[in-house]
Amino acid sequence: MRKIVACVMLMMIGAWVWAQDQKEGYEVHDMKRPQPAIVTPGTFSTQEEPGKPPSDAVVLFDGKDLSKWKGKDGAAEWKVENGYMEIVPGTGQIATNDEFGDCQIHVEWMSPPPTDKTSQARGNSGVFLMGLYELQVLDNYQNETYPDGAAGSVYGQYPPLANPIRPPGEWNIYDAVFRAAKVDADGKVTEPAHLTLLFNGVVVQDSMDLIGPSMHGALTTYPAKMPPKGPVTIQDHHNAVRYRNIWIRPLGEKPKPPVKPAGKGH
Ligand code: MG
Repeated sequence: MRKIVACVMLMMIGAWVWAQDQKEGYEVHDMKRPQPAIVTPGTFSTQEEPGKPPSDAVVLFDGKDLSKWKGKDGAAEWKVENGYMEIVPGTGQIATNDEFGDCQIHVEWMSPPPTDKTSQARGNSGVFLMGLYELQVLDNYQNETYPDGAAGSVYGQYPPLANPIRPPGEWNIYDAVFRAAKVDADGKVTEPAHLTLLFNGVVVQDSMDLIGPSMHGALTTYPAKMPPKGPVTIQDHHNAVRYRNIWIRPLGEKPKPPVKPAGKGH
């Protein structure tokens, strides 16, 4: 009996010490910080073949089917063939069944053959994070448009820093890092969402503060109540854009900085 009491007391003291550490924060070089999770890296895509996702990624589309997606009235109706999905114009946007907040997302897309249309009417689609913020997809190859609606823009907010697009018929790659807007208990935004986007390996959005959900024409602002998560949606803008190799990695909270210098032994 005494042993049990002693054991419980030790555990309680241990928990208290741990809680104090958590409250006070870490030292520089602190071995008490959790070790980073082991992730087996993926492989890079080529034009011929999509790469493999990292081992901890949630695969949203692997070229086989649209089971992770839904359409506006049930099943997603876009065409799936030869390892890609293709928008069937007029069937409406598709959305993931699951919802995501903070994340890293990888998407590959290809513009259809150009027509006599220009600006926003050429190869238009878009990837919406949380169903709200549009990473514009557009055939901007030898085709100018308003810069805050270009490929690699956050639609209606920020032009891309460069235009590294590949011509129609070739695969383009988006790799984004997204932090959802922080909200208080009532859902009111206390810190804007942040977005970094690499477009074919080129930084086009550099930790940008998003000013609200993407809108056409209007100056957007955050609504009074913001959800913490939402689906990834892909826009049907009546052009047969193709997508392949879509995966996402939900991100945990950012680590806190140390608050004390290194202890003994460093
Ligand atoms: Mg669009």
